[in-house]
Amino acid sequence: MDYQQLWTQTKDEISHSIEQFSFQQTFGEVKTVLKMQNGSIYVLCPNNLIQRKLNTLYINQLNDILETLTSERLRFKFVTSDEVAPKEEVTEKKKDYLFKSNLRPEYTFSSFVAGDSNKLARRNAFQCAQEGANAANPLYIFGGVGLGKTHLMQAIGNQMIDDDINKRVLYIETQEFIDDYTKAARSNKFDTFEEKYSNLDALLVDDIQMLSDAPRTQEQFFSIFNKMYNDSKLIVIASDKPYNKLNIMDRLTSRFSWGQIVDIEKPDQTLRVQILKRKVSETTPQIVPDEVLEFIASNFTSNIRELEGALRRVLAYAVAFDLDVTLDTAKEALKTLIKVQDKNNDNNDFEKLISIVADFYQVDVADILSSKRNAKFTTPRHICMYILKTKYELTFKKIGSLMGGRDYTTVITAVEKISQQMVLNKELELAITTILKKIG
Ligand code: ADP
Ligand code: MG
Repeated sequence: MDYQQLWTQTKDEISHSIEQFSFQQTFGEVKTVLKMQNGSIYVLCPNNLIQRKLNTLYINQLNDILETLTSERLRFKFVTSDEVAPKEEVTEKKKDYLFKSNLRPEYTFSSFVAGDSNKLARRNAFQCAQEGANAANPLYIFGGVGLGKTHLMQAIGNQMIDDDINKRVLYIETQEFIDDYTKAARSNKFDTFEEKYSNLDALLVDDIQMLSDAPRTQEQFFSIFNKMYNDSKLIVIASDKPYNKLNIMDRLTSRFSWGQIVDIEKPDQTLRVQILKRKVSETTPQIVPDEVLEFIASNFTSNIRELEGALRRVLAYAVAFDLDVTLDTAKEALKTLIKVQDKNNDNNDFEKLISIVADFYQVDVADILSSKRNAKFTTPRHICMYILKTKYELTFKKIGSLMGGRDYTTVITAVEKISQQMVLNKELELAITTILKKIG
């Protein structure tokens, strides 16, 4: 993506709607894109006056235009040269285009609702965002699927960058780290790898348990860890297990205990209701009675992603059938999902699988179980069926009924399709490997 060009095009577009003289006055000297980081394209302004003008008069229109030019979720941020560290010579050609934080802007501390199960983790994370390695190094966060580990660790990164745009923060899924290293090692070319993983102010490594099958990558991570640790740069690690239960070399895991270890537990009913309340106020003008929120909260207890998905489903159901959001509406909308949960009281493999797949593809469990035909949902749906067949060896009929009451022939077709595509499609193969590893 050429961010410089995006700015130039946006400017060109807005020039049609502004009188030429004032366009020249405001935009004439606003030419240079410094970098893209964390979803923001940083544009250099010649002085505060222009910066203020852009921020008050034009920012919304500019971001609207930007949205039409790219499918990436981006926005402009206007800065002056005194906000940029002197060492980052702004007039020089060397630009940080390649540096991507990988952070999702919505994962912030303010959107993270605190309760008994996560407040200690939140407090420690916030301290790390403010004081870096001085607060704790590394910060090791662990807990089950969908409890907020990724959200919290990204909040640290977002906060650091918000406080200082020059901070280089990198969020990385362990699988991506493994892939980067494997690629570099295979071709014996380490420049891109080195560039990506050096000179960081903070490195946030998610799902570290996935490192267990990659001994050589463990060595590499060990050396990056040591370097950062010695330079007092913050390392944050998230995992679904305590550090001493990881299947990773002791040399490395013992270092994980040098800093602060925090766990996130399952949310209690109070926190679940609070999270739902907050979601409602953020996303919809619909009125949702407390008893509905309490009903949802008491049926989706072990995973916040699913909890939010259930709420979205109720709201969408009410809109689709033009109903008020009442307890009856909620019960009707969630009927199939709640049945799925009941079925799995004796066996939660299915629940775990589907929530891992949903998490991987960033979609709702409800959508995977629905009959929506959008590829965004059919691929994860078919992958679930494929894994239920090949790993858990369930009958096609049983899979059909678990997956929202589908005919067994549909399941057969889906499983065959995935088996065939896996051979040709590297990305799909990698997705399935990753999911299988997460299931453990
Ligand atoms: P994990 O990484 O532990 O599997 P995530 O961080 O991906 O979990 O969280 C799953 C979903 O739940 C995300 O959409 C996240 O924003 C939301 N979530 C988790 N904890 C909270 C919280 N305390 N407040 C608000 N949203 C939360
Ligand atoms: Mg996660």
